Amino acid sequence: MNVFKFGGASVKNAPGFVNVAEIIAFFKGEKLAIVVSATGKTTNALETVVKSYFYKDGTALEKLDAIKRNHYEIIETLGLVGTEIEQDVNDLFVEIDWILDDEPHDQYDYIYDQIVSIGELVSSRILYHTLRSRGINASWLDVRGVLFTDEIHREAKVIWNLTSEKVNASIRSLLEHSDVVVTQGFIGSTTENHTTTLGREGSDYTAAILSYCCNAEAMHIWKDVPGVLTGDPRKFENVVKMEKLSYKEAIEMTYYGAKVIHPKTIKPLQNKNIPLYVRPFDNPSSVGTKISSEAEGFYPPIVVIEEDQALVSISVRDFSFVAEQHISNIFGILSELRLKVNMMRNTAISFTLCVQHHQDKLLQLKEKLENEFSVNIETGLEMITIRHFTKEAIQEMKRNKLTLFEDRLQDTIQLVVKEIPLITRKKEDEK
Ligand code: ASP
Repeated sequence: MNVFKFGGASVKNAPGFVNVAEIIAFFKGEKLAIVVSATGKTTNALETVVKSYFYKDGTALEKLDAIKRNHYEIIETLGLVGTEIEQDVNDLFVEIDWILDDEPHDQYDYIYDQIVSIGELVSSRILYHTLRSRGINASWLDVRGVLFTDEIHREAKVIWNLTSEKVNASIRSLLEHSDVVVTQGFIGSTTENHTTTLGREGSDYTAAILSYCCNAEAMHIWKDVPGVLTGDPRKFENVVKMEKLSYKEAIEMTYYGAKVIHPKTIKPLQNKNIPLYVRPFDNPSSVGTKISSEAEGFYPPIVVIEEDQALVSISVRDFSFVAEQHISNIFGILSELRLKVNMMRNTAISFTLCVQHHQDKLLQLKEKLENEFSVNIETGLEMITIRHFTKEAIQEMKRNKLTLFEDRLQDTIQLVVKEIPLITRKKEDEK
């Protein structure tokens, strides 16, 4: 049995659903569990519904209507109007209507999970009906009945023992009388039946959880790229596809911010030695990139860019050394604010760290530190990580940029850079 995952980009419109159905038809004869995300940018749109509802700006219903229209259009284009899909999708949207009818009494994160999860429930219903209408013997599974989590809404942690047992039993039994099981990524449930979510972009992780629980032969992520590339094709022209990657390399890349796979995806697969294929959804016969335990090969320079970074320079006011106690206080605050540190370094009297630019969190950080330290924050920066760097690759990445911070390990270099404004650049060139 194999697990397929299709992200929002692969089901952004009716032709997307048809393409997914064709990929599945291409694998006729295989037993498949299919994990699907919400269509296109639906999760972002549902997030705005939550915000409008919670802060009562009066536009939640209007925003929800636009999302509904979008889905009904897809159903219409797929030629499924008049079938039971309409009732199915209506029933799901009605659940949000009910929530929006009430006053927002509950916690933001709780409400978020109840509303945003509808995106995956609706898209998986549409996919299920699309497959059935094309003669594919599919069944549908509400993943919330088998994937159990704790109660940390928006970042729920999986309860592995219970999930393992339930996922395996239900998928195996569904696959006894159907070829394909369609289910949702990103969402789960507490044991009290409250819907939870696993964190943004979490559908890859769901597919890895299901692969682990069912001891899948392999997991396949279908994407709008030929496989794992050496850089972001929207930013660089000369990127190449890698045929193979080790789990270790993949985990390092995602740790440094590569968006190609969700960072939590690799561990469950590595633990059971299940290979992961990152494949192009416009070419089902290509195997894309294989990620597995196979021995490390030779890697070309791999570039990962994280935008919108901030450099926080923290220095002691009294010229005492930065000691363990200071660092422990700083990290206490970072953990309280859930700010992830991307790079850091300390000198005798200062401590510098690079974090994602979250305006409100950074202001709180500054406020909390300012009693003891003087704090300077520079924003509008990029963090560039080059794995397996070469001199040429570093030069290329530094071109037209001012390097504010640099850290070099044996096979990884990280730079925090700022664009050099055009006028200054011209003057430099004239020199
Ligand atoms: N729909 C969710 C998101 O956009 C989960 C996913 O696509 O992986 O974050």
